Order: sequence, then structure tokens, then C-alpha cells
Amino acid sequence: MVHLLIGISNILGMNMEGLDIRTLALTNLWLGMFLGVGSLVFARIHPLFISFKQLGVSYFLFSIGFFLLSGRGYIPDFISIIVANMLIYIGFTLLIWGVLKFLHVNSNAFEKISILLLTILLILFVIFTYALPNIGARVVSISVIIASISFYAGLTVLRNYKNTSLTFMRFLGGTFIFCSFIYMFRVYLSIRELYMDNFIVTEIIHALSLIMLQFVTIVSCFSLTITASQQLAQKLAVQASTDSLTGIYNRRAFDELAEKSTVKAQRERQPISIIIMDIDFFKQVNDQYGHQIGDRVLQEFSLRLKSSLRQYDILARYGGEEFTLLLPDTNVKTAMIIAEKLRVKIAQPLFILENSTVLSVTSSLGVVTSQEDNKDWQQLISFADQALYQAKESGRNCVKLYTGESEFVKLFTDKAEV
Ligand code: GH3
Ligand code: MG
Ligand code: MG
Repeated sequence: MVHLLIGISNILGMNMEGLDIRTLALTNLWLGMFLGVGSLVFARIHPLFISFKQLGVSYFLFSIGFFLLSGRGYIPDFISIIVANMLIYIGFTLLIWGVLKFLHVNSNAFEKISILLLTILLILFVIFTYALPNIGARVVSISVIIASISFYAGLTVLRNYKNTSLTFMRFLGGTFIFCSFIYMFRVYLSIRELYMDNFIVTEIIHALSLIMLQFVTIVSCFSLTITASQQLAQKLAVQASTDSLTGIYNRRAFDELAEKSTVKAQRERQPISIIIMDIDFFKQVNDQYGHQIGDRVLQEFSLRLKSSLRQYDILARYGGEEFTLLLPDTNVKTAMIIAEKLRVKIAQPLFILENSTVLSVTSSLGVVTSQEDNKDWQQLISFADQALYQAKESGRNCVKLYTGESEFVKLFTDKAEV
């Protein structure tokens, strides 16, 4: 198998025999330091992504572990063998723990098992260093454990990446599984050649397993950073288009969506309607009950509207106590029926206050429909606004339709039955 690997590497033009473990261990040192600093800085900038702290610490542990490993023969065996390998193992588990936390996977079982494995590994290393010195047995012990937890990490990432919206997590999951195979292969080879006399020898599989750990550190850091920035971008996009008090679209999002929908409606020669709603005498609610109750009224108001919408209708808080509703593919008759239903729904008591006062509000609504005419969305909104003004002028708590520049017809009043 080793000869096969040498053969493949020669074909690929790589002189794998020239890769010595000490050099690789030192490369892991600077790589771990570099990624460690990067991850900790990232965790500081974005405290939301707390798992980057674990990641950063794990890269440092890798670094120190590999640095000590490369000191084999120069520093005491206890440090270059036992401490070094334990640090690498702890670094690896911390890395997986960070990934699990990032994916919001419950890591309780993993934490307990990894502590148990650490104890077992420590005992085995002490035995195979002092009681029955055997480098092959040590390689087998740590490789089996790394292969197992890496396989577990790979499966968990592959199972859970769908929770997030991520392409790179699949790559990370695959990398963990690949790492696990490399380590199992290392176990297989080490069992075959159990009596090795020096670990710092150029063995391709040992070199490969070190390269694999480098690869895992790079891929994990890269995948999580990209994924985190994807999540941040999504979050920002949602925040930028949402009204924080009511959770519905804000004016900015509405304007964008209204523009697109109006253009689409014109292209497809479909009707489109806009309703603007404004709470009547809302200032009095604030003055009488306080601003906080006023806020709750706005929240309840938008909940009521939301519950009456169709899937493709677009509701937004256009400002203060003014709401807009975009109704694609809706003709004037349907728009008026919807507006009247909303008016009635809003006028029902909102909630009972502590002193058993029933709080209710009414609203005025302006409606405009565009069908086979080329009004742009801004014109439509301004016409709906004019209809709303008419509704206020006509005594409030009613629906008005914009019918043309000069005339408004009051089709529905507060007493109308729909
Ligand atoms: P009209 O029937 O003519 O619409 O009377 P109105 O009192 O509703 O109209 P006006 O525009 O004078 O007052 C709107 C009030 O809405 C004033 C402002 O304090 C209140 N308001 C705007 N935004 C908020 C908010 O986010 N929370 C609360 N509690 N009040 C708000
Ligand atoms: Mg008002
Ligand atoms: Mg207003």
C-alpha cells in the first residue's frame, strides 16, 4: 500500500518521500497560530458567533502540540510524546465542539465521550511510553480515536448543515469523513508494521495524516467563516427590510416590492391594488394610555392585518401608524371587499386594559387599483394616499376608492355590510 502511495505521488510529480514529519509539524505550528489569531479576532468582532473562540483555542492547541512533537529527541519524551499528543487530541475535540456549537447541535454527549477518550488515551500513552514502550501502539491508539471522532463530526455536519443555508458545510463534513479514512488507513499500516523504532521517520502515511490535520484546520476555519458571513448578510438583509416593532415589512422593502409587482402586473396585463390604512386619532391613544400601550396597539393592529392576508399579499408599516397593503392580481371589486373586511376587523376591541377599559381603535382606508393603465407604483401610492385623505375628511372609519383625479366615490361606509 505504501508503495502504491509512493507510486501515485511520483506520478503526480510529488516527492512524498521528501516530506519529513518535523517540517510538517512546524508548518502546522504557524498555520495554527495564524488561524487561531484570525478566529479569536473574528469572535471578538462578532460576539454572536461564540464558537469561533473554541475554534481559535483549538488551533492554538494544535500549534503548541505540533511544536512539542517536532521537538522529539531535543526535549523530554514526556513533553514531546504525551503532552504533545494530548494537546493535539484536545485541540481536535475542541475544534469539533466549536463546529457542533456553530451548527446548534446538542454537544453534551460529545463532551462527556471526549473527556472519557482523553483519559483512555492518556493511560494508553503512559503505558506505551514507559511500561511497554511501543511507538506503533501509540500511533494506533491516537489514530483510532481521531478517526472515530472525525467520522462522528463528519456525519453530524452532513446531517445538520441543512439547518443553515450552507454549501461549505457539506465540504467540511466530507473533509472530516475523509480525515477519518486517512487515520483508519494509518491504523491499518501501523498494525502491519507495529515495531517501528522512531516516529520521526519519513513515512508517507504519517505525513499524510499530518497534512490531513492541516487540511481540517484550514477547511473548518474557511467554511465556518464563510458560513458565518452568509448568515450575517442574511440577517442584515432581513433587518434592513423589517419593521422592528411589528415584524412586518418596512417602507424601504415595500417600495422595492411595490415597484417590482407593479411592473410585473403591467407586463402581464393583470390588475394590482394598493390599500393605505391609517389609525384614527391615534395620537389620543398615546396621550390617554401612554406610548407603550400605543406600541402594543400597533403590534396588535399588524397581527390582525397579517392574519387576513393571502400568501402573495405584501403588508408593510409605511410610517408611524400608517400601513400599506399591496394586493397583486386583485381587481377593484375584490380590493374594496378586502379593505372593508380589514376595517371591520380592526374596529373590533383590541384588548382589555387593567382597569377593565376596552381599548379599540378604528382606521381609515384608501384604495387604488391599476388595470391596463400605465401608472407607476409611486403614482399608485400617491392616489391611495389621496383616497385615504378623503376617508379622513368623510369622518374616518371608512373605506374610499380613488376613482380619478377629480372625483372620489364613497362606495363603502362604516355601516356598509360586505
Ligand atoms: P388621524 O385620525 O387624523 O390620523 O389622527 P392621528 O392622531 O392618528 O394622526 P396624527 O398624525 O396627528 O398622529 C399620529 C400619531 O402616531 C402621533 C405619534 O405620536 C404616533 N406614533 C407614530 N409612531 C408611533 C410609534 O411607533 N409608537 C407609538 N406609540 N405612537 C406612534
Ligand atoms: Mg392617524
Ligand atoms: Mg398618520
